[in-house]
Amino acid sequence: IKISKSYKLASRDFHPDDTIIDIKGVKIGGSNLVVMGGPCAVETPEQIDEIARLVKAAGGQVLRGGAFKPRTGPYSFQGVGVEGLAMMAEAGKKHGLLTITEVMTPEYVDICAEYADILQVGTRNMQNFDLLRKLGTIQTPVLLKRGFSSTYDEFLNAAEYILAGGNPNVMLCERGIRTFETYTRNTLDLSAIPVLQSLSHLPVISDPSHGTGRRELVEPMTKASVAAGANGLIIEMHTDPDNSMTGDGVQSLFPDQFAALLKDLALLAPIV
Ligand code: PEP
Ligand code: MN
Repeated sequence: IKISKSYKLASRDFHPDDTIIDIKGVKIGGSNLVVMGGPCAVETPEQIDEIARLVKAAGGQVLRGGAFKPRTGPYSFQGVGVEGLAMMAEAGKKHGLLTITEVMTPEYVDICAEYADILQVGTRNMQNFDLLRKLGTIQTPVLLKRGFSSTYDEFLNAAEYILAGGNPNVMLCERGIRTFETYTRNTLDLSAIPVLQSLSHLPVISDPSHGTGRRELVEPMTKASVAAGANGLIIEMHTDPDNSMTGDGVQSLFPDQFAALLKDLALLAPIV
């Protein structure tokens, strides 16, 4: 594959070995498979506690949940904010899970890093360069989502901003791109997984939830992602998807589906 390589630190030429990010003993990268699960948004202490319990029981290692939600419309629910960070940190601690949450602005990086183990940069912010630069100044691991209209080169250059600032702990996340197809919310670009792994040493995580927008497609696309070599998955799961506070209930697995999927995954690759 010939693409212009304006990035350096993200490149496999520069760093031939796989990057393995060790977060409190959970290793992300290499031959490990990490599973992050949870709701689109943190809603209440009870909701996140119960979902954390179910993620742990199913064998997941990381609890996902947004306290700050990047919504398409300004009148939609925007997340519960800082209180949600505390709710999620408590649930993660109680159930022995790492936590990941989205940070949208440089000003909130420090407070989010105080509460969460991994910071997520959403698809809409992949080229928020001030945010990326700020994330380069800390050591907290970052899951960088691919912009929904971004090329691999643009994606890896976004990662380069964080690496160049001095934070080597970056994971790449394929979460679907915009194509002409409207049946699915996005088109999960499975090719991105092996391509990014050949161009870069950074772990590649797949998000079949946003990548399809449809619950019934999460299982097959999760398995396809693992077959394509993904280093991990980030999957939405909710105890009451029909009443979730974001529109992402339609793509959220029910807890029993999430548990069954992880059981199947353990047959495909060891979850460690
Ligand atoms: C999310 O993870 O809930 C989310 C908003 O993801 P994305 O940035 O990929 O849309
Ligand atoms: Mn979501």
